[in-house]
Amino acid sequence: MTLVMKFGGTSVGDAAAMRRTAGLIAHSQKEMGATAVVVSAMSKVTDLLLRGAHGAAVGDEDGFRQAARELREKHGAAVNELLARHPERPAVAAELNQFIDRFEALCQAVLILGELTPRALDAVSGMGEQMSARILAAYLRREGYDAQALDAAELIVTDNNFQSAAPLMPETAAQCQRRLRPLLDSGVIPIITGFIGATVDGVLTTLGRGGSDYSAAILGQALAANEVWIWTDVDGVMTADPRYVPTARTIPQLTYREVAELAYYGAKVLHPKTIRPVIENGIPLRIKNSFNPDHPGTLIVGDNVAANGAIKAVTAVANLALITVEGKGMMGVPGIAARAFGAVADKQVSVLLISQASSEQSISFAVPGDAAERVIASLEQAFAAELQRQDVDRIWAQREVTIVTVVGAGMRGTPGIAGQIFSALGQNGVNVIAIAQGSSECGISLVVDAADGGTAVNHIHALI
Ligand code: ADP
Ligand code: ASP
Ligand code: MG
Repeated sequence: MTLVMKFGGTSVGDAAAMRRTAGLIAHSQKEMGATAVVVSAMSKVTDLLLRGAHGAAVGDEDGFRQAARELREKHGAAVNELLARHPERPAVAAELNQFIDRFEALCQAVLILGELTPRALDAVSGMGEQMSARILAAYLRREGYDAQALDAAELIVTDNNFQSAAPLMPETAAQCQRRLRPLLDSGVIPIITGFIGATVDGVLTTLGRGGSDYSAAILGQALAANEVWIWTDVDGVMTADPRYVPTARTIPQLTYREVAELAYYGAKVLHPKTIRPVIENGIPLRIKNSFNPDHPGTLIVGDNVAANGAIKAVTAVANLALITVEGKGMMGVPGIAARAFGAVADKQVSVLLISQASSEQSISFAVPGDAAERVIASLEQAFAAELQRQDVDRIWAQREVTIVTVVGAGMRGTPGIAGQIFSALGQNGVNVIAIAQGSSECGISLVVDAADGGTAVNHIHALI
C-alpha cells in the first residue's frame, strides 16, 4: 500500500498544528504502510513572501525587511518549540535563516533592478514549502521516526511556465521511481515540499497558488499510489464554503466530476488541477480535517456511481467582469466567437464561463475583473472593422459580477431543479444576468451582480 498525504497551510500553521500533523503521519505509516507526505508552507507564509517581492519591485525596502522579520519570528517560534533541547535545533534554525537571508537578497536584487520576473517570483514564493518541510521532518526525527525533507524540485519536472508550471509526467514518474520509491521501500517518511517543481534544467517553478493539492495528485500518479488524502482545516468538501454559509454540511461522497466543477468554480478546498491525475488513474481521493481526524470527511469516487437528483453543493467566484460583444451583423457570420476568444487568449486571460444568446446577436463571457480593461482593448482591436461597419455595435463590460455554481450530477435528469433555483432567486430579488451549463455537465452556473452573490449562495443552499 502506498499513500500520499498532503497537509495544507493551517495543518502546519504553528507548532501545535505540526505536532498534530506528525501524529497523523506516524499513525498512517503504522496502519497503512508507505506514506509520502506533501506539505504546504505554514499558513500566510506564501502571501508574505509574495508581498515582500512585489513590494521590492516598486521600491519598498521596509516592506520586505518587515516580511523577513515576520518569517524569522514565525519559523523561529515553531523550531524553538518543536525542537527545544534537540541536537538538530541549531542546524535546522541556521538552514531556515539561510532561506530568509536569500529571500532578502533576492528582494534586494529585485529592488535594484526594479523588475520582478516570473522566474524570480517562483524562486521567492517556493521558499515557504522548503522551510515547513524541513521543520516537520526534523520534528518527526525527534519523535523517533525516520523522516527526510525532500524538495519537489528533485521530483516534479515541469515546463518553464513560471507561476503556473505544468508537470512533465514521464520525467516526473522516472524521478519519483529513482529518488522517492527507494526511500519509501526502506521505511523512510519523505516530507516533500508541495507547490514547487523544477524545469529539466533544474530551475525552480511553482504550480500556481494553492498548488500543493496538485503536487499530491502528481506524486500519487507518479507513484501509482493506492490513495491520495488531502488534509485541511474543514471536515471535507461541504455543501458550501463554511466561511460564508454557517449551515454548510460535509458531503460524504462526491464524484470526480462534481468536485472538479466545485473546485473550478471557487471551492478553495481543492485545487482544480488536482482531479485529473487521480481520475485518470482511478486513485480514490479523500479530503479530511487534520483538526478533527476522526471525522470521515469526503471520499471522491468514480463518475459511474448512481447519482440522485439532488443539488449537492453551491459555490461562488467573485471579482469577475462579464464582457459582451454584441451586434446585429454578427448573426450567422462564421468565426466571430473564434476571433473573440482568440483576442482574449492573446492577453493570456482565461475565460471562466461563456453564454451566447440564441439569436447569435451577442456573446458574453466572464473574465477576472482586473483583466477587463485589457480584454476590451484587445477585442476592440480585433473587431475594428466590424465596429466601423456597425456589424458589431458594442463591446462592453459589466463589472463586479459573481458566478454562482450549483453542482450535482443527478440534476440533469431531474425535472424542476432549475425552476426551484430560479424561483428561490426571484423571490429574493436576485437578478440573473447570464446562465451557462457548467464545464463538466453536472452543474449550472449563474452570473449575478456581485452585491447579490451572498444572497444567491445562501438561498440556493437552503434548497439542499
Ligand atoms: P489548505 O491550506 O489546507 O489547502 P485552503 O484554505 O486552501 O486550505 O482550503 C480550505 C478552505 O476552503 C476551507 O477553510 C474553506 O473555508 C474553503 N472552502 C471553500 N469552499 C468550500 C467547500 N465547498 N467545502 C469546504 N471548504 C470550502
Ligand atoms: N503555499 C502555496 C500557496 O499558498 C501552495 C498551497 O498552499 O497549496 O499558494
Ligand atoms: Mg489549499
